[in-house]
Amino acid sequence: MPNKLIIAIDGPAGSGKSTTAKILADRIGYLYIDTGAMYRAITFLAIRDNFVNNSVEIINKTKNCKIELAYENGLTRVFVDGEEVTEFIREKDVNDCVSEISKIEEVRSELVRKQKELGKNGGVVMEGRDIGTVVFPYADVKVFLTASIDERAVRRTKEYVQKGKNIPMEDVKHNLETRDKIDSSRIVSPLKIAEDAFIVDTTALTVDEQVNEILIQINKILELKND
Ligand code: C5P
Repeated sequence: MPNKLIIAIDGPAGSGKSTTAKILADRIGYLYIDTGAMYRAITFLAIRDNFVNNSVEIINKTKNCKIELAYENGLTRVFVDGEEVTEFIREKDVNDCVSEISKIEEVRSELVRKQKELGKNGGVVMEGRDIGTVVFPYADVKVFLTASIDERAVRRTKEYVQKGKNIPMEDVKHNLETRDKIDSSRIVSPLKIAEDAFIVDTTALTVDEQVNEILIQINKILELKND
């Protein structure tokens, strides 16, 4: 595998992006970057520091803070100005507000700038909503993962149970549907399938099957490039 490719993985929450992207990155020795963690970090700060309804403050914070991602043993650790926020960014209050904050144009442009910087040398598997359309429209490989809403809700609910949290599946499903709607309908870089993306419906696939499908696709693209 050449060590400079940019692999973009987009799709809605619960479609298998994180699990697949992490395993794929491990297998090919690439850096894994979870861009959702960046939007979540800003959202967490806005909630904790009481400026969640103040877009000027949100934009200001986004422009002036340093977000660092450190991927260790299957977990993306997230730091803002040196403070670790890893645990807090997956909480319900963040789930409930993150898509509204992600709609703000200046928040997006600033985080996209940071993401471009992180991936500029290639050798990355970057996952999010707009990686193949906006962050790296010239990515070597673009994958769009999808799955039925019921399957996505089952997966997310199981993840919560593994973390010791019992959240009713209906609530999880409602949050996924709400985020899907906001993420897909926003004016700036909505969640959509890039024209040249390879679509994988993961509803009935195992994680291994998902990773293998993507690896096959990467190899096909590499063969075409070498022709
Ligand atoms: O990937 P994850 O579900 O953690 O992302 C949380 C939220 O962050 C998404 O629902 C979306 O609103 C936002 N997001 C985004 N663009 C990205 C990644 C995430 O708007 N590239």
